[in-house]
This record gives sequence, C-alpha cells and structure tokens, in this order.
Amino acid sequence: MASIFLKEGKEKSLVRRHPWVYATAIARIKGTPAVGDTVDVHAANGQWLARGAFSPESALRVRVWSFASHEMIDRTFFEARLRAAIRRREHLRARTEAIRLVFGEADGLPGLVVDQYGKVVVAQLQSAGCELWKSVIFDLLPELTGAAVVYERSDAAVRAREGLTERSGLVWTQETDPEAKKIADQGWVIVREDGIHYRVDFVNGHKTGFYVDQRDSRFLVRQLVQRLILSGRKPDVLNCFSYTGGFSLAASLGGAACVTSVDSSADALSIAATNAGLNNIPAERFQCATENVFDYLKAAQARKQQFDMVILDPPKFAPSAHHVEKAARAYKDLNMRGLGILREGGYLLTFSCSGAISVDLFQKIVAGAVIDAKIDFQLEQRLAAGADHPMSMTHPEGEYLKGLLLRRT
Ligand code: SAH
Repeated sequence: MASIFLKEGKEKSLVRRHPWVYATAIARIKGTPAVGDTVDVHAANGQWLARGAFSPESALRVRVWSFASHEMIDRTFFEARLRAAIRRREHLRARTEAIRLVFGEADGLPGLVVDQYGKVVVAQLQSAGCELWKSVIFDLLPELTGAAVVYERSDAAVRAREGLTERSGLVWTQETDPEAKKIADQGWVIVREDGIHYRVDFVNGHKTGFYVDQRDSRFLVRQLVQRLILSGRKPDVLNCFSYTGGFSLAASLGGAACVTSVDSSADALSIAATNAGLNNIPAERFQCATENVFDYLKAAQARKQQFDMVILDPPKFAPSAHHVEKAARAYKDLNMRGLGILREGGYLLTFSCSGAISVDLFQKIVAGAVIDAKIDFQLEQRLAAGADHPMSMTHPEGEYLKGLLLRRT
C-alpha cells in the first residue's frame, strides 16, 4: 500500500477526523498508487492518521475510508458500512418506500449515494474510491437492501473533478421476480410515502429520480394546509420549482382548494399530472404552468393574484463559494416576489439547497427580502432534510438543504 506524507501542520484536520486530504496538503507520496487505490496517510513526523482512497486528478486527493489503523478496506469493510447505514434508516420504512440508504461522508462512505424506491435501488458513485470498489458495492446491494432492480446513476457532474466520465444504466435485476423486469424496462416505479403515491423516474429523473430529502417538509405542507382549513380558509397553494409535484400532492391531499405547480420542465410537470391522477386528485384542483418561476411570480403580482401558501424550492443557485454573491441576489429577488403574493396569515416555505450558502446566510437573505417588501413575517420553524440525510459532525460540508417556514402576520 502506498503512503502519503503530509506537510508540516497539515495533519490537524485529519486528527479532528475531517475526511478529506487536499492535494495542497501533501508533501510526498511513497509508492505509485493508481486511481482509487487505498493509501495510508501520515503526518509529517510519520504518525499514522487515516486510510483512504487516492484520486490523482482531484483537488480532494484522498477521501478517508477509515481512521482506525486496524481496519482494512475490503469487501468486509463495505459490507459493514453499508449494513450499518441501511440499519440506521430502518425506522423510516414504516412511513415510506423512498429512502436515502447511504449518504456519502455522513455514513463513512465518501462519494457514495444510494437511494431506495420500493423494489429499486439507485446508486451514484461520485469518487475514484467508489469507482474502484464498484463491483463489490453493486454485488452487496441486492442482498443488503432486498431490492429487485439495481440501477446506476453515476451521471453527476462532480465525477469530472475526479477524472471520471459519467455513466448510467441497469446493473442487475432479480430474475425470479417477474415485476423486476417490467420495472427495469419501463424505467419508473411507484412509491408510497406517508400514504401518497409518487411515480419516480429513476432513469431520466433529477438526481436519482426524486427529492427524497424533502419528505419531512412535504408532510409539514400537508399539516399546514389542514391548519389553514381549520381557520376557515379554502387554501390556494403555489408550488414554485415543483418538479414532479412532491409538495403539490401533499398540499392537495391536505385539502387545498387549488394547487398550482410551476416548473420550466414540461416533462416534470407531466409526471406531476400523472401523480395527481394516481392519487385521485381532480384536475381542476391541480393546475400546472410550464413557465419560468420569476416570470410567473411577476405576472401573478401584476394581476394581484394571492395565495395562502407559497413554496419556493429552487435548484442550487450557488454551485460553489465563488457564486455566493450572485446567488444571494437571486434568492433575495425570488423571496421578495414570493412574499409579495401571500395573503395575510399565509405561509411561505422557502429553501436553498446550495451547500455554499450557510443556514445563517440564508436566513439573512430572506430577512433582507422581508425588510425590503415591508411586510411583517414571523419565522415559525427552520426546515432541513430528513433523518436519512444526516451530517457527520466532523464534516459540516455535508449540510446543503435548509429552509424556513415564515408566516405573514
Ligand atoms: N421542489 C421539487 C424539487 C425542485 S428541483 C421537489 O420537491 O420535488 C428544481 C426544479 O426547478 C426543477 O424541476 C427544474 O426544472 C426547475 N427550474 C429550474 N429553474 C427554473 C426556473 N427559472 N423556472 C421554473 N422552473 C425552474
């Protein structure tokens, strides 16, 4: 096994169990590790620090598999980590068939994402280390998850930073399960979450097909709509950046009088409409608008249209720290427009999935929008991804989704 020796003082983050070694921290390499190979990482004074995967093209030159010197990186290691990650999510099975089973660094498996949608398991390998171990990972997944279909969605742009090309496709189907072939051929599956049916397109959908991370906020939306009804309203809900209508279905089934889903993708909205049908929601209570959200909000304000709930869940505006300033302006503009069309007593659920925008900064941006809009709002609750998207305490970079529930007073 090759050994990496860090520059003087560069061992500090590893001693604190942060799982990344930047190329700039490395003094020398003993041996000639290939892409993804397991290497030992040592401090400048020779002290053993960690064992990880080598990625010669990445600025993150090593991602740590283990901080225990006795732990070997082999099939047994992957089986133990996968088993533990899956077991930690067991409690979610009572409410949903859509679960993130593995969330990279948070589960001690840097670069690996595994989502389950009923009989389908979708894996995304984002790092050179995962790429090297892919046959072991894929071999273990059916047994550990009970899935009948394993699909790969390693088509994330982050792979380019590791010198890896994108790849997607069917990995495995359970031949004794007649439904497995059907699901694999059609490329979508229907899952149930909190009693609601969602069609998940695991071949062409975003990420691995579904925004699993918004489960708790979908549930909250349903409760908030019910709360509005109890206060005597017939809630009109606007779901901006709706994708396949996750929040829209929750609002509809909560009893909203009318839900409007806005997204620039006609394909996403077509699945949203299918989802409404699956859940017996009448079309007149479920409107879709294929439009740019910014234009839609401007037009809604111009025609003085108002809503009892507005949901803003845009794509990542800040892909990296360089984009924070520009993204902050876009978030503020979006939130000002969203705030402006809420009825008194109405709810705004606003999100950012930009890792580069901190929870604090996001709250400041939204506060800025509230101040400029000259409308009073209370912050009722902070929102985040569900329990299957934990964050390692030693890897704060893992936090990305944040949201605020505001109520117009
Ligand atoms: N809220 C969704 C996920 C949103 S993903 C859910 O819970 O499932 C972001 C969505 O925004 C994508 O569907 C994308 O098509 C859409 N989008 C991106 N930019 C847009 C814009 N300017 N106007 C409208 N939709 C946009």
